[in-house]
Amino acid sequence: MFTAPDKGPFCFGKDKTVLTIYFAAGQSRWPDYAAPLRTALAEAGIEAQLSPQCDDPSAVDYVIFAPGGEIADFTPFTRTKAVLNLWAGVEKIVSLPGLTQPLCRMVDPALTSGMVEWVVGHCLRHHLGMDRHIINPAHIWDPTCPPIASERPIAMLGMGALGEACARALQALGFPVTGWSRTPKTLEGLPCLHGEDGLRSALGCAQIAVLLLPSTPDTQGLLNAERLALMPKGAVILNPGRGPLIDDDALIAALDSGQIGHATLDVFRTEPLPAAHPFWSHPGVTVTPHIAAETRPQSASRVIVENIRRGEAGLPFLHLVDLARGY
Ligand code: NAP
Repeated sequence: MFTAPDKGPFCFGKDKTVLTIYFAAGQSRWPDYAAPLRTALAEAGIEAQLSPQCDDPSAVDYVIFAPGGEIADFTPFTRTKAVLNLWAGVEKIVSLPGLTQPLCRMVDPALTSGMVEWVVGHCLRHHLGMDRHIINPAHIWDPTCPPIASERPIAMLGMGALGEACARALQALGFPVTGWSRTPKTLEGLPCLHGEDGLRSALGCAQIAVLLLPSTPDTQGLLNAERLALMPKGAVILNPGRGPLIDDDALIAALDSGQIGHATLDVFRTEPLPAAHPFWSHPGVTVTPHIAAETRPQSASRVIVENIRRGEAGLPFLHLVDLARGY
């Protein structure tokens, strides 16, 4: 082995770079990721020293990252070609000091499947009024039929990788879905609005609103009292996006008044949701503990390695985050 000054260690004789990859995504995740990452690297023909330890940040080619892991400042990672985030959301990373390297977020078919299943499942729960029959201690025979899907408009706030997949799955069941995003979008067979007028219009007719927006300075408290009041009385909110998208006090007030019929929330301003938070005890709130869509080691490892392969081949990285925009 010898070390080329600008490229790092090479395998002597094979003229093949051995990359240094630092798994800075928490020691607890390492046992689940070590084998799938090594398999994906081998399948891609990439030789690498992959480790959950880092003695010399200036020798690291790629960082595999998750918030709460080992890095609070990227300044010493002078040679790092990309930071590869295991999560779809990046709000805890974009403001970390020294982050000038390209940041790629997780877009992974298994994560998307998980989100589609969570969103469709919880939409159907509310659409069909399942709770009335599951929790019926007085054995009341109420033969009221729910409407069919085509009579239940849904607003999908956020039409990115996850929002569009969820919108398409709901459409396939017959729900009229209106999307809303930051920029104008033309999607085949799927109306998508933008801007304040678009948001008012999407919420104004939605019996269910699904929040799949990132947490950025622009989306803080997006669902506030004024916007909740735009929705038809008794509408349902599903939030698998991020906690700060909702003004918690406004939501509680809207639930108390009956303006909002139910809120199913997967994400919160503080996680775990504090024991004293009113969401836990409110009869109109279902709390799920940030389980809507988990990154799966097998498929995520292939996504990570594909980006390393692209970096080494001089190709543009996939799923790049715009640090200034915050997502
Ligand atoms: P994405 O592909 O980046 O899409 C984000 C969408 O939000 C885009 O359509 C974007 O609009 C829109 N948006 C951003 N800022 C906006 C604004 N100010 N006004 C209106 N629209 C705005 O993200 P994704 O992969 O779909 O993921 C969405 C979020 O889901 C993540 O950021 C994360 O917070 C959350 N998530 C939660 C879980 C969980 O387990 N609960 C798991 C994974 C992800 P443009 O299309 O115009 O850019």
